[in-house]
Amino acid sequence: MAILTVQDLHKNYGPIQALKGVSFSVPKGSVFGILGPNGSGKTTLLGIILDVLRATSGTFKLFDEEPSHKHRQQIGTLLETPNFYHYLNAVQNLRIAAAIKQRGRADIDKVLQLVNLEQRKFSKFSTYSLGMKQRLAIASALLGDPDVLIFDEPTNGLDPVGIVETRDLIKKLSKAGKTIIMASHLLDEVEKVCTHVAILQKGTLITHGHVDEILITDDIVETSATDLQQLQAMLQQYPGAKHAQVKEQYVEVTFTPGTVSLEALNRYCFDKGITLRHLRLRKKSLETKFFELTQNNN
Ligand code: ATP
Repeated sequence: MAILTVQDLHKNYGPIQALKGVSFSVPKGSVFGILGPNGSGKTTLLGIILDVLRATSGTFKLFDEEPSHKHRQQIGTLLETPNFYHYLNAVQNLRIAAAIKQRGRADIDKVLQLVNLEQRKFSKFSTYSLGMKQRLAIASALLGDPDVLIFDEPTNGLDPVGIVETRDLIKKLSKAGKTIIMASHLLDEVEKVCTHVAILQKGTLITHGHVDEILITDDIVETSATDLQQLQAMLQQYPGAKHAQVKEQYVEVTFTPGTVSLEALNRYCFDKGITLRHLRLRKKSLETKFFELTQNNN
């Protein structure tokens, strides 16, 4: 079953095209990252799904059905740091949140336990660290035990400890069977917690699918010889090489990870009459990969 299916969504704000025909679907049980730089349309997309904004055209389904209030009741959201009362404690704040959202009060203790705030549940909100405030916000999203959680930039503004706490919590919720959809501009965050990703760039979906397939890092072999042009021409023909490029003093050859043998490559060059004076294998960083993905679509 798909939790969410988005079909050719467009959203214009006057002349600004914030979404230009976005289609993808979110499998049940996934941690689905919507990844993109600032202004790529992530918040707009979440706003449409949550019925805060109206799409210009296109459709979407929730739980394989036409979206309705009933479906949205099964979705817990964390869209921005919520305004809790500073002088009230966690339990009191969650009672208010439960009343506003018309969700049960019964599970306040359970959600506080889940986000690891049990020990501090009677402390005033004003005494909480940023990480604890964020965990309380997640606890609030968990009221009523929704199957699906939607988080917009869940680690925004947190320090490294808060980031790790929030990530661990997302992983724990995923293990407990929740489907999580989260928007982020942080590649690292998506790589660390998400199972699936959709990459948005200026309102266009560049790619989507399983993180292991999309964010796969290529192996790069740096090579050098006296005549770089000749070396490049030769390595372009090398079996398994995706492409060979001259980069400053090297020719860089890209391979699918784990498919290249430096010994074999060295011998190949030698047999063709070229002696290498540099040969080194390195991993392409995910940042580079992400940069390439988003650059190619400018
Ligand atoms: P960020 O991470 O900065 O929040 P985002 O990926 O969530 O970015 P959106 O906030 O959805 O992106 O914005 C997408 C585009 O739509 C941007 O160009 C933005 O300036 C524009 N936009 C968003 N809301 C409005 C609005 N209410 N009126 C006009 N333009 C808007």
